[in-house]
Amino acid sequence: MNPYWLEDEAPQRSTVHRDGPVDVAIVGAGVTGCSAALRLAEAGLTVRVHDQRAVAEGASGRNGGFALRGGASRYDVARETYGREEAAELWHWTERALDEMSGLAGDSLRRTGSLRLAADEEERDAIRAEYEAMREDGIAAEWVDEPADGRFHGAIFHPEDGSVQPARFVRRLAARAAAAGAEIREHDTVADVDALGAEHVVVATDGYGHGLVAELADLIWPTRGQVIVSQPLDRVLYDKPHYARQGFDYWQQLPDGRVLLGGFRDVSIMDELTDVEETTPTIQASLERFLGELIGEEPEISHRWAGIFGLTQDMLPLVGRVPGRGDVWVAGGYSGHGNVLGFACGALVADAVLGDTSSPQLQLFDPARFFV
Ligand SMILES: Cc1cc2nc3c(=O)[nH]c(=O)nc-3n(C[C@H](O)[C@H](O)[C@H](O)COP(=O)(O)OP(=O)(O)OC[C@H]3O[C@@H](n4cnc5c(N)ncnc54)[C@H](O)[C@@H]3O)c2cc1C
Repeated sequence: MNPYWLEDEAPQRSTVHRDGPVDVAIVGAGVTGCSAALRLAEAGLTVRVHDQRAVAEGASGRNGGFALRGGASRYDVARETYGREEAAELWHWTERALDEMSGLAGDSLRRTGSLRLAADEEERDAIRAEYEAMREDGIAAEWVDEPADGRFHGAIFHPEDGSVQPARFVRRLAARAAAAGAEIREHDTVADVDALGAEHVVVATDGYGHGLVAELADLIWPTRGQVIVSQPLDRVLYDKPHYARQGFDYWQQLPDGRVLLGGFRDVSIMDELTDVEETTPTIQASLERFLGELIGEEPEISHRWAGIFGLTQDMLPLVGRVPGRGDVWVAGGYSGHGNVLGFACGALVADAVLGDTSSPQLQLFDPARFFV
């Protein structure tokens, strides 16, 4: 179990130590917690971030590195489910978040675009409907009739998307948050959010920390994803992130020539509804077989790992106060789509804590929708 991204050297960070109670305690030092900490500290609040591991060692350092705009559902499905204006606003909001990430990321984010592929004719019809809905609503997308890799049946090119080195990005966010005055306490497990002695608590644990807040236990389901990475290849096969089969399979070639592949969760989908962070022979074998097909040779694997993300019933995150829990807030449940959403929702929950509730996303993501 050696997540490739976490081998990157962590940047220097100022050591901040705060005595006594703080305005906001944040549980989780992934992209969500670090983004929230940065926004709150810059606004002048006292902030302490607690993580049972080190910065970015949860899903934020174990994912596929796809920086995608939008929500976890297809655009046409989102439009039908939450409404046209709401879906378009959500997509544009994440595009703005990606632009903001670009400004902070340095070389940890490359705006390459991404390619969503159809694995068969049925999926071609589905993504064609998505493409048409996007065009109708003025959202940038290009149709690719015959993707270069001949096994696929059409694709959508999403020009706004990118590839992120997620651990590098999040560690940089943490360093900025610390420079703005946030204390980051690593290897510090929170057992009881009410004992943190803060005016507000933000729970930013996504798929980890299941059960920490009882009210969320049935709303954010821990789900496992598995990834493999090959030894560097001497040729460029993929110049941008690719994904297919409704996002069940995703791969990209990294700047050093390695190919990263994740997914195949549907091979044993019930077994993957777990927070046990370990790889399994069944899924690893499926990944290796498909990687061999992608690169045209027996793959030599250098890295393999598992990570946990939080899935919700409607594939939308939960951001806002936890009903019935006073000043306990949550931002999580990105349903496997948290690199950009996590960054955006960290800032969103911070704004809400600061009293700015004007964003329409706060209505869409309100945890109260599950408490009727
Ligand atoms: C295999 C895999 C592939 C993925 N691929 C992509 C992708 O390509 N693109 C994309 O957009 N999204 C992807 N995701 C999803 C994305 O990684 C997550 O949604 C995102 O990283 C969530 O960030 P976070 O900060 O909310 O949570 P995390 O990064 O998971 O951080 C939560 C933190 O909370 C800490 N914590 C939990 N409980 C406690 C406690 N009691 N006390 C103290 N600390 C605690 C954990 O240690 C952890 O560090 C993937 C996820 C996985 C697992």
